[in-house]
Amino acid sequence: MSFRNFKMVSYVVFGRGSFNQLDEILAPHRKGEAPMIFLVDHFFEGKALLNRVPLRGKDKVILADVTHEPKTTQVDALAKAIKDEFGTINGVIGIGGGSVMDLAKAVSLMMTNPGSSADYQGWDLVKQPGVYKVGIPTLSGTGAEVSRTTVLTGPTRKLGMNSDFTPFDQIVLDPELTKDVPANQRFYTGMDCYIHCIESLEGTYLNEFSKSYGEKALQLCQKVFVEKDHWDNESDDQLMMASYAGGMSIAYSQVGVAHAVSYGLSYLLGTKHGIGNCIVMNHLEEYYPAGVKEFKHMVAKNNIDIPQGICKGLTDEQFDAMMNVSLGMKPLWENALGKDWEKIMTREKLRALYEKL
Ligand code: NAD
Ligand code: ZN
Repeated sequence: MSFRNFKMVSYVVFGRGSFNQLDEILAPHRKGEAPMIFLVDHFFEGKALLNRVPLRGKDKVILADVTHEPKTTQVDALAKAIKDEFGTINGVIGIGGGSVMDLAKAVSLMMTNPGSSADYQGWDLVKQPGVYKVGIPTLSGTGAEVSRTTVLTGPTRKLGMNSDFTPFDQIVLDPELTKDVPANQRFYTGMDCYIHCIESLEGTYLNEFSKSYGEKALQLCQKVFVEKDHWDNESDDQLMMASYAGGMSIAYSQVGVAHAVSYGLSYLLGTKHGIGNCIVMNHLEEYYPAGVKEFKHMVAKNNIDIPQGICKGLTDEQFDAMMNVSLGMKPLWENALGKDWEKIMTREKLRALYEKL
């Protein structure tokens, strides 16, 4: 038996307004003339937050287009543009949702590792530490702020750069930054966290470490999406901590059926992570009965639309492509269904599930 020895984020600051401390936090990491690069979610174009970015010297803000989830080509292009303009940099600060945080982690790694980010999709392929990197979530739920991966769509697969060099050196958790997220988006990404908790807590990889974080994160999700009747500042605080704890929970266990199936949707149809998980969760009574019941209650209570019928009219080849991606996520299935998962989740069974979506 070998126990995972996992690398965590080095520094964490939490609190409303903690973004104002960013200049001070970055100061010791500024060496010579090299700039800091702020990769900011394009949602903030023309918004007040951009004026609060603590630019010094040659620092630069790059607005990141997150219309689509991050691709290896996008990471490579960003890293090349930064190298061409500046040579070396002092750090990358990602300010945005899971997409921008993943982009920032990947760009940091590609400043020091040769080749394409596609070469590093997998486990422990990254050889060099990246440049100093900071994650600042503006949308809560993915847990990307604490994870050791950065999910990228590459030429042949959708897979993260999983490595000990991937976690941020610093995260700034300022719940004020999430106050303008539209209700649907907040729900979809919030449910990513809820689903992380259910999949971790109901999985065969569960242990006391994951359970402690998972139960707390689940309780916080229930507070904001089940118990409360309106969204307030406290809800933003709670969902931000839920995201963090949910990420810590899966760091030491694994996700499960909803994620495994949702990866297929995302690969073939470009369905986004949060909404894709919701589309799948809606049909998982068999695997997570209590979680799915509560999920449906939250959907109704928060007046959320979950798309239906997204697999209508797909060809056999397309179903096969989704199933291949999904069944390739072996640890997820093993966590969800146990060592004999292949006997339980047959291709026929998975096909029937996809047809329901
Ligand atoms: P996202 O980052 O894709 O953003 C969704 C939308 O919300 C975008 O249009 C964005 O511009 C907008 N947005 C962000 N902040 C906002 C704000 N404060 N106000 C208004 N709009 C705002 O969504 P997400 O769900 O946070 O992240 C999904 C991505 O995260 C996927 O690419 C997924 O693969 C990745 N992910 C990564 C991990 C990991 O461990 N690295 C885990 C789960 C998901
Ligand atoms: Zn997720």
